[in-house]
Amino acid sequence: MCPVVPETERTRPTGAELIACHECDLLQYSIALPDDTVAKCPRCEGVLYRHRRNSTDRTLALAIAGLLLFVVANSYPFLAFRMQGKMVQTTLASGVLDLHDQGMTALAILVLVTSILAPFAELVGLLWVLAPLRMRRRAWGAISVFRFLRRIQVWSMMEVFMLGVLVSLVKLADMAEIVPGLALWSFALLIVVLAAASASMDARDIWRRLETPR
Ligand SMILES: [Zn+2]
Repeated sequence: MCPVVPETERTRPTGAELIACHECDLLQYSIALPDDTVAKCPRCEGVLYRHRRNSTDRTLALAIAGLLLFVVANSYPFLAFRMQGKMVQTTLASGVLDLHDQGMTALAILVLVTSILAPFAELVGLLWVLAPLRMRRRAWGAISVFRFLRRIQVWSMMEVFMLGVLVSLVKLADMAEIVPGLALWSFALLIVVLAAASASMDARDIWRRLETPR
C-alpha cells in the first residue's frame, strides 16, 4: 500500500492528477506507484488505484488467447448425447436456436448476449484498444470502444451459463450418455482467461496512454 497526498494539505505535486475516493469522495493527488502496489485512501482506506507490471502486454496476450479459445468454443461440438443408439451433438449456437424453437425466446436472447455476444465484443474491444497502444498508437474510436468495453463487462456471464450446463449434465447423466466436446473445455478455459484479463487490466494506465499514446 502507498499513501497518497490529501488535496487539502499541499499544492499539486508535479504531474499529479486530482482524484476522488470512490468510497468517501475525499479529493487527493495521485502519486506514481512502484510495480504491483496499491494506493489507498488515507481517510477510509478504500482502494484508489493499482499499478500492475506489464499490465497492457499481459492483458493483450490474454485477449489473443481468449479470442482463439472463443473461435474453438463456437466452432466445435459443445456436448454430445448418446441415447438409444442415437448420437445428438449440440454447439453453442444450436443451443440458442433450440431454446428459441422451444418457445423460450427470451432465454435464448439472454444466453446469446451473455455467453456469445458480450464475451466476443469484450475480446475484440480489448484487441482493438490494446494492440495499437502496444505500438504507441491510438486506434480509431479507441476511447469510445474502451468506454463501451467497461460497460459490457458486466454482461459477460459465461460462468452462469457454465453452471447451468453442469447442473443439466448431472440431471441428464442417468438418462443418456453425455460426451463433453472440445468446445466445452475451450469455453471453461475461456472463462478463466477472461477473468485473468480483467484482473490484469490497469484501466487507469490505459486511459492515460489513450490520452497521450507513448
Ligand atoms: Zn476514502
